[in-house]
Amino acid sequence: MTRKILVPWAMPERGREVFKKSKVEVRYFHGPKGEPPTFEELIEAVRQADVLLPRGTQPVPKEVIESNPNLLGIANFGVGYNNIDVATATQLGIPVTNTPGVLTETTADLGWALLMATARKVPQAHHYTLSGEWKETGGKSFMGQDIGPGGSNRPKILGIIGFGRIGQAVMRRSRGFKMKVIAYDPLMKKEIEKKRGVEYRELHDLLKESDFVTLHCPLTKETHHLIGERELALMKPTAILINTSRGPVVDEKALVSILKEGRIAGAGLDVYEHEPELTPGLSELENVVLLPHIGSATQDTREQMAVVAAKNAVAMLKGKRPYTIVNPEVLESTVYLQKLEF
Ligand code: NAP
Repeated sequence: MTRKILVPWAMPERGREVFKKSKVEVRYFHGPKGEPPTFEELIEAVRQADVLLPRGTQPVPKEVIESNPNLLGIANFGVGYNNIDVATATQLGIPVTNTPGVLTETTADLGWALLMATARKVPQAHHYTLSGEWKETGGKSFMGQDIGPGGSNRPKILGIIGFGRIGQAVMRRSRGFKMKVIAYDPLMKKEIEKKRGVEYRELHDLLKESDFVTLHCPLTKETHHLIGERELALMKPTAILINTSRGPVVDEKALVSILKEGRIAGAGLDVYEHEPELTPGLSELENVVLLPHIGSATQDTREQMAVVAAKNAVAMLKGKRPYTIVNPEVLESTVYLQKLEF
């Protein structure tokens, strides 16, 4: 019987070309507008597949993985893989891959755009100009925060939480703004201390010191609600929080109250705790800029992510080592090696 890859979403063309060139069998399973299958439909489809290639926002929980313990791989479309129950996959000898690197600069660009837009209230001012209010009111100032040294000539402090690929790419963008950069990342302390132009801080010190706090850590058990009420309360009243990592890293309910009370100046969010739902109160705030999870959304980057995910899927389908694996220990496990014998 021919082995099959299941793609339950509208994957970009260049990924599909990889499949065509590799002459593998693929089942694309989604609605005419790219609507994903229901949970039950996904389980049924996974039962008949050998490799699953989900979109990074598509949940792949225990029940889905356990519906087919013979899976040869899960090739996630995204660098974050918190949507997948990796522990269950590992236990069942299923390799899981992601798409690191290809989206680093694009996501850092978006993070930087969000930082600037939030600091200078760009969407609020855009809306005001379009709505005709400008003519009616004779001019509103839209006072913002400086990103560069500005009138006070004081370098602003950028606090980066999660100093990996995207965190470091954001640091590079801050150079043109003469910012002082501080970073928190527990396992990277030594590397950060060795880097020129960035100083290590413990989390609470970073929050107290920063003018801008930007989040770039993965969502794990440890980072869930890493930024809660206590942490938000440590931030300066003039500070801005930017989140392009994953929504649940921030306690969104606590964020809404802190913003409502004006205890920090603003927040720019690309990701949400219960996306696509927004925590009540968030959309009524004036000091937020809210984007619909578009960090990696450029044509070139999404195409390249599709190529990486497709190559990983093909490699796993053929029982070969995938390019970017997140649970490499699986490849040595008996349960995985036994699957390859069939
Ligand atoms: P990365 O290179 O793995 O960087 C993440 C960094 O965070 C690593 O250095 C990691 O350290 C660190 N970290 C882990 N636990 C931490 C903690 N408790 N506190 C502080 N730092 C911690 O990943 P990346 O490519 O930069 O991507 C980062 C995240 O961005 C992804 O996981 C994804 O969720 C998110 N993302 C979002 C979008 C979007 O569309 N908005 C797009 C792309 C990525 P260790 O490696 O030592 O664990």
